[in-house]
Amino acid sequence: MENSLLGLQAEAFSNGAARGVRYLKQLPDRRVGPNLSRLAELDPGLPEQGADVGDILDLLETVGGEGTVATAAGRYFGYVIGGALPAASAARALLSAWDQVADGLTGPSVIKMEETAVSWIVRLLGLPEGTDGAFTTGATMSNMALLVTARDTLLSRLGHERGEGLIGAPGLRIVASAEIHATVLKSLRMAGLTTKSIEWVEVDDQGQMRIDKLPELDDRTLVLCQAGNVCSGAFDPFDELGDKCNAAGAWLHVDGAFGLWARACSDTATALKGLEKADSWVVDSHKTLNTPYDSGLALCRHPHEMQASMAIGATYLPATVSNPANRAPEFSRSARGAETWAALLSLGRQGLEDMLSRFHGHARRISGDLTALGFEVPHEVHFNQVFATLPGAEDACARIAGHVQASGEAWFGQASWKGRQGFRISVSNWSTRTEDVDRLIAAVAKAKAEVMAPA
Ligand SMILES: *Cc1c(COP(=O)(O)O)cnc(C)c1O
Repeated sequence: MENSLLGLQAEAFSNGAARGVRYLKQLPDRRVGPNLSRLAELDPGLPEQGADVGDILDLLETVGGEGTVATAAGRYFGYVIGGALPAASAARALLSAWDQVADGLTGPSVIKMEETAVSWIVRLLGLPEGTDGAFTTGATMSNMALLVTARDTLLSRLGHERGEGLIGAPGLRIVASAEIHATVLKSLRMAGLTTKSIEWVEVDDQGQMRIDKLPELDDRTLVLCQAGNVCSGAFDPFDELGDKCNAAGAWLHVDGAFGLWARACSDTATALKGLEKADSWVVDSHKTLNTPYDSGLALCRHPHEMQASMAIGATYLPATVSNPANRAPEFSRSARGAETWAALLSLGRQGLEDMLSRFHGHARRISGDLTALGFEVPHEVHFNQVFATLPGAEDACARIAGHVQASGEAWFGQASWKGRQGFRISVSNWSTRTEDVDRLIAAVAKAKAEVMAPA
């Protein structure tokens, strides 16, 4: 017999999907920045009686839709946000109907997709055989899960029992790149590790860790480096770092939230030589791979150590070693791995390489065009990130970024790097075309003329 409640759900689902289609169709022409004037309407007061789904979707579509930043469009160049590939966002829509919990018993097919995606990524990135991991909500959680794993593993190798955590534990050392991402510090705090007595390693003019400044390492040391400096896109010297860490018994962890993907592209792969020598890696699908938020991946060459730190031992759960939920911080997990699976299936290896190469090409062009406009880009274009400043008028950069944002033509944000004021442009959206870059450059030229015009 037909269940009319589920019938209503199907109707609501198709209503929501139709509005999603309308949003996507108007994206190319709409302004990138949001309309904030109606946000207050989103708090009509909690009604005593529930509202009609159609009315809710009306409010969501009009006021909610206008209040979005069009990060899904090709003229958004802020942070390292990326958009969502067609296969990935369509998979998200379908997955939301399934509402699966990604663990082995309740979501067998989504777990199979997650495990498949992990194995594809391990191969694409050239990581060691046996590397395994789990999807998380993002690099911050992935970093935390792996820092906890590294902490527990180093301590247990020193004879400290795992279950004791940090209570009575021998001291560990944290050695980190001076330009490690700000969220890594939060992940360290969440892992109960120091952020006060980090042994910082100087970086060079590109933002790459200076191997000659690395302190003596030992088997109590956790070394934190990165694949993709958020300002310059530069990569740390994994080859030498890996050799030194492996010889000393130190743990090498790589935060590659957006930049680890560069290894899957022949233009940039050599800059990540030796990446496979690390112990653990973090990469986000929701950034460079262009899946919907939120989706990160924690990868470890010692999956049994990760499992020892992350497994959930409830009596009502069977001990399945292969369940990624036992290697992730979260217990109830969305089926985000299936979105990455869909993204990778839709691109194929060559398609992924082409997309990454396009990001790199656009970024190089942006760097050249900004230089021609009188800006200075004080780094090589290593991957997809461009930091620019205006010599002699650095403080104008924030206003230039503000003018571009206000124009609606494109969006990027102000930034400072190595004590210089500037702005930062990230090419990380699958749908960005040459025409979008043309409009970005035209908008910057116009904004610069406006800001620098004599009053
Ligand atoms: C974005 C980013 C992070 C944090 O990632 P989330 O997925 O937002 O948690 C960490 N490191 C780097 C280099 C990043 O770019």
